[in-house]
Amino acid sequence: MGLKCRQTGSKCDELGWWALSQRSCAAFWSPNRVTFARMSDLTLMAVHAHPDDESASTGGILAKYARQGVRTIVVTCTNGEMGDATGGIKPADPGHNAAAVVEKRREELRAACEVLGVTHLEMLGYQDSGMMGWPQNDAPEAFWHTPVDEGAKRLAVLMEQYQPDVVVTYDEYGFYGHPDHIQANRITVAATDMTKIPKKLYYTTVPREALQQMFTMLKDLNIQEPGGEEFDPTDPPIGVPAEQVTTTVDVAEFVDAKRAALQAHASQTESSFFLQMPEDIFRFAFASESFTRERDVTGAPIPENDLFAGLR
Ligand SMILES: [Zn+2]
Repeated sequence: MGLKCRQTGSKCDELGWWALSQRSCAAFWSPNRVTFARMSDLTLMAVHAHPDDESASTGGILAKYARQGVRTIVVTCTNGEMGDATGGIKPADPGHNAAAVVEKRREELRAACEVLGVTHLEMLGYQDSGMMGWPQNDAPEAFWHTPVDEGAKRLAVLMEQYQPDVVVTYDEYGFYGHPDHIQANRITVAATDMTKIPKKLYYTTVPREALQQMFTMLKDLNIQEPGGEEFDPTDPPIGVPAEQVTTTVDVAEFVDAKRAALQAHASQTESSFFLQMPEDIFRFAFASESFTRERDVTGAPIPENDLFAGLR
């Protein structure tokens, strides 16, 4: 990744291994940093659309499995050009410089991965397509416009390289309908089918009942939901009914690491709804991460509480 140690100036290509090799690194020992020892031959790959998605939807499992010594790979498909510029400047506003946003978001992504103990970060460098319906959806370079086969082949090369046992991405609705999240799902499914390397493939999800409960808790405290409207998890369909969740991983111990990773994406999360939630509701929302198991060769019984069930 080309990061430099803040103390020695030496180059860091594999954050985890480098830290383990005992060369001093002030960044590694930051207070919320997940530290780990490599005690496992298992590999987890999380395929995400934009810088910050890795922390928001899989920050808990990345930190938890990194701590267990699992090799953790984050693949970020787009550069996140359509995110806010520093100071909350929106893409359509004057002063939004896409190149500067990309640079900033790369820095933030690296910092968040450091906090989570992610061992390898791969950026595919596609152009952010913006939210569904935005004119940027139709840009020829947009990720949304990339043929699935092309993106899948690039991801397949990474699967060949890292041989992930478990791969995690979004569901076919991209969790909440964002075109880049949908495309991340499509290339991940295609690359999994192409390589047949991952032994298990999961989609991130949330049980709708828990989501509803969280919004009720916020409403009781008079905290406005994003958009200020009554929350309806079925429109668009977010998450799944609880009985469809196959896998729930307890990440309560890593809630602080997840929060710190989200905070590392300051240009996107300064006014984050989640980061402004009361502490107890944040913990309620993020103490576990839920998944649906979509491919499996292990035959591990479900429900599971470990993405690597059947593999250790
Ligand atoms: Zn995203």
